[in-house]
Amino acid sequence: MTQYVFVTGGVVSSLGKGIVVASVGRMLKSRGATIAVMKLDPYLNVDPGTMSPYQHGEVYVTGDGSETDLDLGHYERFIDLELTSISNVTAGQIYSDVIARERNGRYLGGTIQTVPHVTNLIKERIHQLADETGADVAVIEVGGTVGDIEGLPFLEAIRQMRNDVGRDNATYVHLTLLPYLGSTGELKTKPTQHSVQALRGIGIQPDAIICRSDFDVDLGLREKISLYCDVPTEAVIGLETLDTVYAVPLSLEESGFGDFLADRLGITANPDLSEWSGMVDKLRDPKRTVRVAIVGKYVELPDSYLSVIEALRHAALVHDCEVVIDWIKAEDIEEFGADQVLNRASGIIVPGGVGERGVEGMVTAARYARERGIPYLGLCLGMQVMVIEFARSVLGLEDANSAEFDPGSQNHVIAYMPGQEELGETGGTMRLGLYPCTLTAGTIAGNAYGAEYVNERHRHRYEMNNDYRERLNNSGLISSGTAPDGSLVEISEVEGHPFMVGSQFHPEFASRPDRPHPLFREFLGAAVDTLREGAQHAMPLGESSDASNDESALASSEIIARSGISG
Ligand code: GLN
Repeated sequence: MTQYVFVTGGVVSSLGKGIVVASVGRMLKSRGATIAVMKLDPYLNVDPGTMSPYQHGEVYVTGDGSETDLDLGHYERFIDLELTSISNVTAGQIYSDVIARERNGRYLGGTIQTVPHVTNLIKERIHQLADETGADVAVIEVGGTVGDIEGLPFLEAIRQMRNDVGRDNATYVHLTLLPYLGSTGELKTKPTQHSVQALRGIGIQPDAIICRSDFDVDLGLREKISLYCDVPTEAVIGLETLDTVYAVPLSLEESGFGDFLADRLGITANPDLSEWSGMVDKLRDPKRTVRVAIVGKYVELPDSYLSVIEALRHAALVHDCEVVIDWIKAEDIEEFGADQVLNRASGIIVPGGVGERGVEGMVTAARYARERGIPYLGLCLGMQVMVIEFARSVLGLEDANSAEFDPGSQNHVIAYMPGQEELGETGGTMRLGLYPCTLTAGTIAGNAYGAEYVNERHRHRYEMNNDYRERLNNSGLISSGTAPDGSLVEISEVEGHPFMVGSQFHPEFASRPDRPHPLFREFLGAAVDTLREGAQHAMPLGESSDASNDESALASSEIIARSGISG
């Protein structure tokens, strides 16, 4: 029978609940348990697919094509699972479902209420997760913070679960913050006490409290929280801010949280986190630094590109390096020119995006990379931009564009392809999830994968227009990956360039710490090679690139700083 671990958050948001849930999954998996995981999101959108990255950060895409919360990315990367739509439940889904059932007459004249109808549906989804996965442990994260109005039905549902599945089969973990008061030089426990009171007011007594803090949480503080919150001292866990999120499972294990949980769940096997710990050691000891520019629309909020950042980190492990990211607002390239903002980068990534803002800056970045032989990786929109640039510069089609950005252009090198979803309702209408791709042998992409055939995750409406394919191919923009029947171009690359590859799919979602994605791995390898060649855009570890006598480098760092950047 499945056991449940429910994780709630208190005091403030953004404490890293998703990372804690992902870490709990990893810790229990390292003890041999099978894991299912779920995020309950109390907002009323059906899924985050329609939300701006500024609201919600990255929209993560699972293999089955669901647009989900970015925490599912943490879960997949930490626990090494393949998740599906059942792992992300929103209030929007629950309410739509309740109302649809009511319209269908399923409630037989009853009054439909939050309790029990909404809460029953939430519990149904949790049970469905357990039934479909048959996992030993289901770790369930409740999004938001205790005290949020919209979170109440979810908290009520998980409260009821304890009675439904039996007291010993439900464990409640509450994550809080211990703020540091500079004037008195101490960590304060009162917000945690209040948060636990609020949780108890709903009827949930936590079994364990994890206290996030920027400083060491000593025994005295843990005893105090234990006393006021009625939790054993060994179940009050300090989680100090760490240099890397990948160290969180190790820290929680060291604090005894793994043993506490295993004990409650009746798991007797010892944890084996040796490979994980080796990975973290490697991450902490890079031999050199590589600078990669990410040219996007939403760079003020790096969470918009979370999986891209993580995929770079995974690739860096293979090349013994640390990646420093220059966050480049695409519009700044339009304003200041590519050289001013890109001259420090050993590699350039243009990630995914929707809408026309900044696209011309991205096209300029692609031209800069192509002409100077700087490694370039285009992710979805980044591939489209690469095709547009090539068509303009090499085929001489000056108005080449995507139908998305310039409906009036005579040369839509990026367009709707026959058979693809027509523009209709927004929300879940893009080409989403896994689609197969056949690789062309001998190409950079083909060699990177070392395979003939792959499945990759998509999230887009537009494609490379087949009417231009032959001309582009003959002029040096080769199609190194296509749909198996040849109908769609999945990967394009510039012939003769050290690494200029764009994929219509999002490889970043498939990267794992121990299995970096082949395209990221090879892209970063090419960036490291520019370092070996001593190109100006690369630097050995410890050397500052901001030589103060270098005017353009100075200018670029100012612009980059203006964009709100840093590594
Ligand atoms: N806007 C482009 C499209 O819809 C690219 C989408 C993306 O980068 N995910 O095709």
